[in-house]
Amino acid sequence: MTRAPVRLLIHGASGRMGRAVLRLAAADARVAVTGAVNRSGNKVDGVRAWPASRIAAALPFDVLVDFSLPDALDAALELCLQRGAALVCGTTGLSSSQREAMVAAAESIPILYAANFSIGVALLHELVSRAATAVPDWDCHIVETHHAQKRDAPSGTALSLGEAIAGARGSPPQYLSLRAGDVVGEHLVQFTGHGERLELIHRATDREIFARGALEAAVRLAGRGPGIYSLGKLLLG
Ligand code: NAD
Repeated sequence: MTRAPVRLLIHGASGRMGRAVLRLAAADARVAVTGAVNRSGNKVDGVRAWPASRIAAALPFDVLVDFSLPDALDAALELCLQRGAALVCGTTGLSSSQREAMVAAAESIPILYAANFSIGVALLHELVSRAATAVPDWDCHIVETHHAQKRDAPSGTALSLGEAIAGARGSPPQYLSLRAGDVVGEHLVQFTGHGERLELIHRATDREIFARGALEAAVRLAGRGPGIYSLGKLLLG
């Protein structure tokens, strides 16, 4: 039996990431975009859009895919709760109270939050946890580089890698953030001992990888029960 397409509302649709999600969704028969939300409310790539102030008017959807700004997230989460819809959220720089609100909302709806939707970074999390457990006394640094327009620092990805490292060895790494040109995203995790250094690095060269991961997550999250889901488990099994 073929499954009906998963209905998506794209939140932050006119941004770099939102447009990448729209492009991929248009070519994917497993999903149907029922609308978009952005600051202006102007149509995006032919898709009907609502401004943030009229988000409640959005057509029915199964999953809201969010790549916007922290200020915009609360209204999106509220809408998902009202509609009983799932949330796939990739916005970084969220406050701790916003993260807590997501955990509370997950009592009622399925939620997946990932600071990075690439499969390579999901693997990097596993590798750095393994390294941090094996050499807990080595110095550990995360050097992250992103395009000059990125607002938050350290990146959400660096912080979430740092959480994994702290969980594994008891102390967090040191962070260094570089903002330069049009770099999509690079994360170097460096463990330094005496006379040797281990470097684990992920380079994103095309932001479509994040959009592809988010779309795949949306398809897999649709129809699931309430709870917080992890990208690693959902995509890598
Ligand atoms: P962008 O600035 O290009 O786009 C932001 C979008 O949010 C725009 O469409 C804008 O209209 C919309 N927006 C702003 N205020 C709004 C409001 N109040 N209500 C509704 N929409 C609003 O940003 P971007 O580069 O597309 O990145 C968006 C977010 O995604 C950032 O937090 C970024 O760090 C994050 N990001 C996450 C991943 C990941 O894999 N999780 C990857 C890349 C970027």
